[in-house]
Amino acid sequence: MDQGKDHVAVIGGGLAGSLFALRLAQQGHRVDVYERRPDPRARRGAEGRSINLGLSKRGIAALSEVGLRDEVLSLAVPMEGRVIHTLDGTARFQPYGKNRQEVLHSIDRNELNDLLLDRAEAHPSVQLHFEHRCVGVDAATRSIQIADATGTVTPITADWIVGADGAFSKIREEMQRGQRANFSKEFLEWGYKELNLPARPDGTSQLKLNALHVWPRGHCLIVSHANRNGSHTLTLFLPFEGPDSFATLPDRTAISSFFTRYFPDLVPQLPELLAQWERHPVGSLVTTRTAPWHLNDWIVLIGDSCHAVYPFYGQGMNSAFEDCSALSAALTTTHPTSRLDAFRSYERSRRPHTDTLAELSKENFVELRQRVQSPLFVLRKRLDVWLNRLAPRTWLPLYTMIAHTTMPYADALARARRQDRWLLSGVAVAMVVLAGAVGWAVS
Ligand SMILES: Cc1cc2nc3c(=O)[nH]c(=O)nc-3n(C[C@H](O)[C@H](O)[C@H](O)COP(=O)(O)OP(=O)(O)OC[C@H]3O[C@@H](n4cnc5c(N)ncnc54)[C@H](O)[C@@H]3O)c2cc1C
Repeated sequence: MDQGKDHVAVIGGGLAGSLFALRLAQQGHRVDVYERRPDPRARRGAEGRSINLGLSKRGIAALSEVGLRDEVLSLAVPMEGRVIHTLDGTARFQPYGKNRQEVLHSIDRNELNDLLLDRAEAHPSVQLHFEHRCVGVDAATRSIQIADATGTVTPITADWIVGADGAFSKIREEMQRGQRANFSKEFLEWGYKELNLPARPDGTSQLKLNALHVWPRGHCLIVSHANRNGSHTLTLFLPFEGPDSFATLPDRTAISSFFTRYFPDLVPQLPELLAQWERHPVGSLVTTRTAPWHLNDWIVLIGDSCHAVYPFYGQGMNSAFEDCSALSAALTTTHPTSRLDAFRSYERSRRPHTDTLAELSKENFVELRQRVQSPLFVLRKRLDVWLNRLAPRTWLPLYTMIAHTTMPYADALARARRQDRWLLSGVAVAMVVLAGAVGWAVS
């Protein structure tokens, strides 16, 4: 089989779908992308909202493969570490790594998606179809049903299909109908709301620009990503229900007093808080797991459609982009003559690791909202950075492996656990030696 001559339909023109469409076209395939939304590039700027994501090594590696690394990074703001804001107004900086290469990049999701769509569309082998929604899959005729803006449904055939339609994937649901397939969906009891913290009138940032900012409050949390114009996108994470929840903030008075109580330093910096609160929706957060990720050699899933994770490790998009690299390598290098083998090997190489990422993302939720302010946690982070400086090949902090390497997620976690055991043994030996020395000194 010549993998370079296929006609591929990609369902979903979000981050993973548009990147993978470009990659496939560069490899000689003819690609049609079906996206349910209208062309987002036509109405950008209407509300001036920006939603930012942290781009790290895995995502950058996939962008390099399509030649977009430098262009994307020129749109991003590097973040060298995180600034923890405590309730008393103190701000403490924690670096992400031991040097300036180990940084995250804050990027506007819309700008990134627009760029990927632009580059995909500019390729002569890619056709984008907006307001075209996948509504069904017919495995018997190997066709998918696509509804256009008028509701007219047309069957589409292609040599194979890529499902890149996000966490609530229709293609996944349809392809697994009647199959022995697993799927689980877990909603967090917390939701999120995005708010914009504007730049000063002279365009400078009200907060340190080159950092992620975190306001950990245990029962609520704000995380902020910087924008190139000096503004910051704040994401407030809060339970949907219970005391101090979205449910207990029904009006302007309640919202103002909530911010005054928990985020007093932000209040003077957010003059538009109440208007923004009313305009911006509350989003929900979901973890999904599923298997299999493909139907025969015909449909294959990438990104959130096969593994949505909570956003607290900042790896959802990065791992979605990493899927594009892994699937591409399976099709072109590992199994160039069998698409079915390529799909199988792609799933085998990815699923255990994205399952691990789901767990890490849950754990990081507790870290971000609570543990980052504990002196013991700060000490441990410093020790990690110090050990990494001392023995950069031997000692790699877990965060460094996840964000600044492409080491598979489960391998990174296993290595971190091994390092923890060494550390514990080292501390135990040091204590025995110390006790022995003290005993000898007093005898
Ligand atoms: C608050 C928040 C913060 C985050 N922060 C980060 C971060 O810092 N770093 C990071 O790496 N990740 C982050 N993520 C995760 C990241 O947004 C996702 O992992 C990423 O968007 C997944 O890309 P995707 O292309 O798989 O899905 P999506 O981006 O959801 O794209 C799916 C596309 O499919 C389209 N679609 C859906 N259904 C159909 C259909 N039936 N037919 C046709 N088209 C359809 C949708 O309109 C959409 O365009 C965050 C997520 C959230 C919610």
